[in-house]
Amino acid sequence: MSNIGQKELDHFHWLTMALSLPEEGVAKYFPDEPARIKRLVEVRWPHGPTCIRCLGDSITKIETRSLFQCRKCRHQFSATSGTALHRTRLPLGNWFQATESLIHYHVDISLRYHMPGHALAQKLGIQYVAARRIRKVVLADIEEGGYNFLRSAVCVQALKIPTGVTAYSNDHLRWLVELRLSGLRFRS
Ligand SMILES: [Zn+2]
Repeated sequence: MSNIGQKELDHFHWLTMALSLPEEGVAKYFPDEPARIKRLVEVRWPHGPTCIRCLGDSITKIETRSLFQCRKCRHQFSATSGTALHRTRLPLGNWFQATESLIHYHVDISLRYHMPGHALAQKLGIQYVAARRIRKVVLADIEEGGYNFLRSAVCVQALKIPTGVTAYSNDHLRWLVELRLSGLRFRS
């Protein structure tokens, strides 16, 4: 039976994310901006891009600029248009790296606090103000009930709970913790 509290649910959430990250790290798994753009397109439009203005599904790809154009209303948009990622105009590499770092920090270093802005700035090699902004947007995305855009983009591995283990039970939590500690991954 599951009789766990909010703190444990939070732990489930973060541990599951951590264990779903690419084993070799996001920098190797998504080696360049085109790979990251491709991933965001897949996550945002699993059935193919639709126009963000008129929802039309007849779309032309403008290869050279990573843009899409709607055949109906002529609107041009990208995988990040209309999202918080677009407004900051930072490379996607920073976003993917920040998401991974914030998850690792929260799971392995402090379940109570998030990675401080200055530590993130140092990790990404960017200004403190930019790091604070990224941190805020990423947390709003990956926390429970968040936008789930970056989270879906970087969490590439599906975790399969072993047979006989009830979801959200203490056994489930123990299994996740052990998996994290052992560094082993189970893929479905
Ligand atoms: Zn359109």
